[in-house]
Amino acid sequence: MTTKKITNVGGDDAPQQRPAFVATAEAKAQAKQFRLYAAILWILAIVAEIGAMVILFKKDPEIALSTGMRVALIVILLIDLILLIAGSSFWKKSNRFDPASNRDALKFMLQNQLGVVVAAIAFLPVVILAFIKKEYLVGAIAALFMVGGGAASADYHAPSQEQYSQQTSRVQDLTGGNNVYWTKSGTKYHIYQDCPHINTSRTDEIFSGTVAKARELKNITELCKTCEARAEKEKALKGGAGVQSQPIALPDANAKPEKK
Ligand SMILES: [Zn+2]
Repeated sequence: MTTKKITNVGGDDAPQQRPAFVATAEAKAQAKQFRLYAAILWILAIVAEIGAMVILFKKDPEIALSTGMRVALIVILLIDLILLIAGSSFWKKSNRFDPASNRDALKFMLQNQLGVVVAAIAFLPVVILAFIKKEYLVGAIAALFMVGGGAASADYHAPSQEQYSQQTSRVQDLTGGNNVYWTKSGTKYHIYQDCPHINTSRTDEIFSGTVAKARELKNITELCKTCEARAEKEKALKGGAGVQSQPIALPDANAKPEKK
Protein backbone atom coordinates (compact mmCIF):
# COMPACT_ATOMS: atom_id res chain seq x y z
CA MET A 1 0.00 0.00 0.00
CA THR A 2 1.45 3.33 -1.05
CA THR A 3 1.42 6.45 1.04
CA LYS A 4 1.29 8.65 -2.02
CA LYS A 5 -1.80 10.46 -3.10
CA ILE A 6 -3.75 8.52 -5.70
CA THR A 7 -5.66 10.47 -8.27
CA ASN A 8 -8.42 8.43 -9.78
CA VAL A 9 -9.10 9.38 -13.37
CA GLY A 10 -11.86 6.84 -13.91
CA GLY A 11 -11.92 3.13 -14.56
CA ASP A 12 -12.16 0.24 -12.18
CA ASP A 13 -10.57 0.30 -8.75
CA ALA A 14 -7.36 -1.66 -9.00
CA PRO A 15 -8.37 -4.52 -6.65
CA GLN A 16 -11.47 -5.07 -8.80
CA GLN A 17 -9.36 -6.08 -11.79
CA ARG A 18 -10.07 -9.75 -12.06
CA PRO A 19 -8.21 -12.34 -14.04
CA ALA A 20 -10.35 -13.64 -16.88
CA PHE A 21 -11.84 -17.05 -16.35
CA VAL A 22 -10.31 -19.72 -18.55
CA ALA A 23 -11.83 -23.18 -18.60
CA THR A 24 -9.39 -26.00 -17.84
CA ALA A 25 -8.35 -28.32 -20.68
CA GLU A 26 -10.36 -31.05 -19.01
CA ALA A 27 -13.49 -28.88 -18.86
CA LYS A 28 -13.02 -27.84 -22.47
CA ALA A 29 -12.77 -31.47 -23.56
CA GLN A 30 -15.96 -32.27 -21.65
CA ALA A 31 -17.71 -29.31 -23.25
CA LYS A 32 -16.61 -30.48 -26.69
CA GLN A 33 -18.09 -33.90 -26.09
CA PHE A 34 -21.42 -32.44 -24.95
CA ARG A 35 -21.48 -30.17 -28.01
CA LEU A 36 -21.00 -33.18 -30.24
CA TYR A 37 -23.93 -34.99 -28.57
CA ALA A 38 -26.06 -31.86 -28.96
CA ALA A 39 -25.20 -31.60 -32.66
CA ILE A 40 -26.05 -35.26 -33.31
CA LEU A 41 -29.39 -35.03 -31.48
CA TRP A 42 -30.29 -31.79 -33.23
CA ILE A 43 -29.46 -33.28 -36.64
CA LEU A 44 -31.69 -36.27 -35.85
CA ALA A 45 -34.48 -33.87 -34.81
CA ILE A 46 -34.23 -32.17 -38.20
CA VAL A 47 -34.22 -35.58 -39.93
CA ALA A 48 -37.52 -36.33 -38.14
CA GLU A 49 -38.86 -33.00 -39.31
CA ILE A 50 -37.88 -33.79 -42.90
CA GLY A 51 -39.72 -37.12 -42.55
CA ALA A 52 -42.89 -35.30 -41.51
CA MET A 53 -42.44 -32.83 -44.35
CA VAL A 54 -42.11 -35.58 -46.94
CA ILE A 55 -45.49 -36.99 -45.85
CA LEU A 56 -47.08 -33.55 -45.96
CA PHE A 57 -45.44 -32.65 -49.25
CA LYS A 58 -47.00 -35.63 -51.03
CA LYS A 59 -50.43 -34.82 -49.68
CA ASP A 60 -53.13 -33.27 -51.86
CA PRO A 61 -54.32 -30.09 -50.07
CA GLU A 62 -57.93 -30.89 -50.99
CA ILE A 63 -57.95 -34.43 -49.61
CA ALA A 64 -57.73 -34.88 -45.84
CA LEU A 65 -55.16 -37.29 -44.36
CA SER A 66 -56.39 -40.52 -42.80
CA THR A 67 -56.49 -40.62 -39.00
CA GLY A 68 -53.66 -43.16 -39.00
CA MET A 69 -51.48 -40.85 -41.10
CA ARG A 70 -52.25 -37.92 -38.82
CA VAL A 71 -51.30 -39.94 -35.74
CA ALA A 72 -48.08 -41.00 -37.48
CA LEU A 73 -47.27 -37.35 -38.25
CA ILE A 74 -47.89 -36.28 -34.66
CA VAL A 75 -45.69 -39.12 -33.38
CA ILE A 76 -42.89 -38.02 -35.73
CA LEU A 77 -43.24 -34.45 -34.48
CA LEU A 78 -43.11 -35.68 -30.90
CA ILE A 79 -39.85 -37.51 -31.68
CA ASP A 80 -38.60 -34.27 -33.25
CA LEU A 81 -39.45 -32.44 -30.01
CA ILE A 82 -37.76 -34.98 -27.72
CA LEU A 83 -34.57 -34.97 -29.81
CA LEU A 84 -34.55 -31.17 -29.85
CA ILE A 85 -34.88 -30.87 -26.06
CA ALA A 86 -32.31 -33.61 -25.41
CA GLY A 87 -29.85 -31.85 -27.73
CA SER A 88 -30.47 -28.49 -26.08
CA SER A 89 -29.91 -29.99 -22.66
CA PHE A 90 -26.44 -31.21 -23.74
CA TRP A 91 -25.78 -27.85 -25.33
CA LYS A 92 -26.60 -25.98 -22.11
CA LYS A 93 -24.37 -28.38 -20.17
CA SER A 94 -21.49 -27.74 -22.55
CA ASN A 95 -21.71 -24.00 -21.87
CA ARG A 96 -21.38 -24.57 -18.12
CA PHE A 97 -18.05 -26.28 -18.74
CA ASP A 98 -16.79 -23.75 -21.24
CA PRO A 99 -18.76 -20.51 -20.87
CA ALA A 100 -18.81 -17.70 -23.41
CA SER A 101 -17.56 -14.22 -22.65
CA ASN A 102 -20.27 -11.58 -22.44
CA ARG A 103 -18.04 -8.92 -23.99
CA ASP A 104 -19.48 -9.75 -27.40
CA ALA A 105 -23.22 -9.54 -26.73
CA LEU A 106 -24.37 -11.12 -29.98
CA LYS A 107 -21.99 -14.04 -29.82
CA PHE A 108 -22.82 -14.53 -26.16
CA MET A 109 -26.54 -14.68 -26.87
CA LEU A 110 -26.15 -16.97 -29.86
CA GLN A 111 -23.94 -19.42 -28.00
CA ASN A 112 -26.22 -19.60 -24.97
CA GLN A 113 -29.54 -19.55 -26.80
CA LEU A 114 -28.60 -21.67 -29.81
CA GLY A 115 -31.23 -24.23 -28.78
CA VAL A 116 -33.97 -21.66 -29.43
CA VAL A 117 -32.66 -21.11 -32.95
CA VAL A 118 -32.59 -24.87 -33.53
CA ALA A 119 -36.18 -25.11 -32.22
CA ALA A 120 -37.26 -22.72 -34.97
CA ILE A 121 -35.31 -24.67 -37.61
CA ALA A 122 -36.73 -27.98 -36.37
CA PHE A 123 -40.38 -26.85 -36.48
CA LEU A 124 -41.08 -23.67 -38.44
CA PRO A 125 -40.81 -25.24 -41.95
CA VAL A 126 -43.15 -28.07 -41.00
CA VAL A 127 -45.63 -25.62 -39.42
CA ILE A 128 -45.74 -23.58 -42.63
CA LEU A 129 -46.06 -26.65 -44.86
CA ALA A 130 -48.86 -28.12 -42.73
CA PHE A 131 -50.88 -24.92 -43.07
CA ILE A 132 -50.23 -24.74 -46.84
CA LYS A 133 -51.47 -28.31 -47.12
CA LYS A 134 -54.52 -27.50 -44.97
CA GLU A 135 -53.54 -29.92 -42.20
CA TYR A 136 -54.48 -27.44 -39.49
CA LEU A 137 -54.43 -29.80 -36.53
CA VAL A 138 -50.95 -31.06 -37.38
CA GLY A 139 -49.82 -27.48 -38.03
CA ALA A 140 -51.18 -26.28 -34.69
CA ILE A 141 -49.49 -29.14 -32.81
CA ALA A 142 -46.19 -28.45 -34.58
CA ALA A 143 -46.48 -24.75 -33.66
CA LEU A 144 -47.16 -25.70 -30.05
CA PHE A 145 -44.10 -27.99 -30.03
CA MET A 146 -41.99 -25.20 -31.50
CA VAL A 147 -42.95 -22.80 -28.71
CA GLY A 148 -42.61 -25.44 -25.98
CA GLY A 149 -39.34 -26.78 -27.40
CA GLY A 150 -37.99 -23.25 -27.74
CA ALA A 151 -38.87 -22.43 -24.13
CA ALA A 152 -37.23 -25.66 -22.94
CA SER A 153 -34.13 -24.96 -25.02
CA ALA A 154 -33.56 -21.42 -23.75
CA ASP A 155 -30.91 -20.95 -21.08
CA TYR A 156 -32.35 -18.90 -18.24
CA HIS A 157 -29.10 -18.93 -16.26
CA ALA A 158 -26.68 -18.38 -19.11
CA PRO A 159 -23.15 -18.74 -17.78
CA SER A 160 -20.44 -16.22 -18.69
CA GLN A 161 -16.69 -16.18 -18.17
CA GLU A 162 -17.08 -12.85 -16.39
CA GLN A 163 -19.61 -14.28 -13.97
CA TYR A 164 -17.36 -17.27 -13.18
CA SER A 165 -14.41 -15.03 -12.55
CA GLN A 166 -16.46 -12.61 -10.43
CA GLN A 167 -17.90 -15.43 -8.30
CA THR A 168 -14.50 -17.04 -7.89
CA SER A 169 -12.91 -13.73 -6.87
CA ARG A 170 -15.60 -13.18 -4.27
CA VAL A 171 -14.85 -16.51 -2.59
CA GLN A 172 -11.11 -15.95 -2.88
CA ASP A 173 -11.47 -12.52 -1.39
CA LEU A 174 -13.43 -13.90 1.56
CA THR A 175 -11.45 -17.05 2.25
CA GLY A 176 -8.12 -16.71 0.49
CA GLY A 177 -8.90 -19.92 -1.40
CA ASN A 178 -11.22 -21.30 -4.01
CA ASN A 179 -13.09 -24.12 -2.32
CA VAL A 180 -16.82 -24.32 -1.73
CA TYR A 181 -19.35 -26.91 -0.60
CA TRP A 182 -22.72 -27.89 -2.00
CA THR A 183 -25.30 -30.64 -1.76
CA LYS A 184 -27.05 -32.73 -4.37
CA SER A 185 -30.27 -30.73 -4.35
CA GLY A 186 -28.95 -27.42 -3.06
CA THR A 187 -29.19 -24.21 -5.03
CA LYS A 188 -26.35 -22.39 -3.29
CA TYR A 189 -22.70 -23.09 -2.66
CA HIS A 190 -21.25 -22.67 0.81
CA ILE A 191 -17.93 -21.57 2.23
CA TYR A 192 -18.23 -23.66 5.39
CA GLN A 193 -18.91 -27.36 5.38
CA ASP A 194 -20.66 -27.00 8.76
CA CYS A 195 -23.01 -24.27 7.51
CA PRO A 196 -26.41 -24.97 9.14
CA HIS A 197 -28.06 -25.00 5.71
CA ILE A 198 -26.11 -28.03 4.50
CA ASN A 199 -25.06 -29.65 7.74
CA THR A 200 -28.55 -31.00 8.42
CA SER A 201 -30.01 -34.41 9.12
CA ARG A 202 -31.49 -34.44 5.61
CA THR A 203 -28.07 -34.23 4.00
CA ASP A 204 -25.89 -37.31 3.84
CA GLU A 205 -23.44 -36.17 1.20
CA ILE A 206 -21.65 -32.87 0.74
CA PHE A 207 -19.61 -32.14 -2.37
CA SER A 208 -16.67 -29.81 -2.45
CA GLY A 209 -14.66 -28.18 -5.19
CA THR A 210 -13.98 -24.90 -6.90
CA VAL A 211 -16.67 -22.33 -7.65
CA ALA A 212 -16.45 -23.24 -11.35
CA LYS A 213 -16.99 -26.91 -10.51
CA ALA A 214 -20.19 -26.09 -8.60
CA ARG A 215 -21.34 -24.29 -11.70
CA GLU A 216 -20.22 -26.99 -14.15
CA LEU A 217 -21.79 -29.88 -12.34
CA LYS A 218 -24.87 -28.40 -10.71
CA ASN A 219 -25.19 -24.93 -12.24
CA ILE A 220 -25.20 -23.40 -8.77
CA THR A 221 -25.02 -19.66 -9.25
CA GLU A 222 -25.36 -18.30 -5.75
CA LEU A 223 -23.19 -18.01 -2.67
CA CYS A 224 -24.99 -18.82 0.59
CA LYS A 225 -25.80 -15.59 2.43
CA THR A 226 -25.21 -17.14 5.85
CA CYS A 227 -21.73 -18.31 4.84
CA GLU A 228 -20.98 -14.97 3.21
CA ALA A 229 -21.88 -13.03 6.37
CA ARG A 230 -19.86 -15.43 8.52
CA ALA A 231 -16.83 -15.19 6.25
CA GLU A 232 -17.03 -11.38 6.27
CA LYS A 233 -17.07 -11.42 10.05
CA GLU A 234 -14.17 -13.88 10.36
CA LYS A 235 -12.18 -11.93 7.83
CA ALA A 236 -12.73 -8.71 9.76
CA LEU A 237 -11.78 -10.40 13.05
CA LYS A 238 -8.57 -11.77 11.62
CA GLY A 239 -7.83 -8.39 10.14
CA GLY A 240 -8.18 -9.81 6.67
CA ALA A 241 -7.97 -13.35 5.41
CA GLY A 242 -4.88 -14.95 3.97
CA VAL A 243 -4.00 -13.15 0.80
CA GLN A 244 -4.88 -9.56 1.53
CA SER A 245 -4.66 -7.84 4.84
CA GLN A 246 -7.07 -4.99 4.72
CA PRO A 247 -8.36 -3.80 8.07
CA ILE A 248 -12.06 -3.43 7.57
CA ALA A 249 -13.31 -2.02 10.84
CA LEU A 250 -10.48 0.42 11.45
CA PRO A 251 -10.43 3.71 9.65
CA ASP A 252 -7.32 3.78 7.55
CA ALA A 253 -6.07 6.97 6.07
CA ASN A 254 -4.44 5.17 3.17
CA ALA A 255 -7.14 2.63 2.45
CA LYS A 256 -9.49 4.88 0.56
CA PRO A 257 -7.95 7.84 -1.12
CA GLU A 258 -11.14 9.74 -1.57
CA LYS A 259 -10.55 13.39 -2.16
CA LYS A 260 -12.90 15.83 -3.65
ZN1 LIG B 1 -23.93 -21.70 3.88
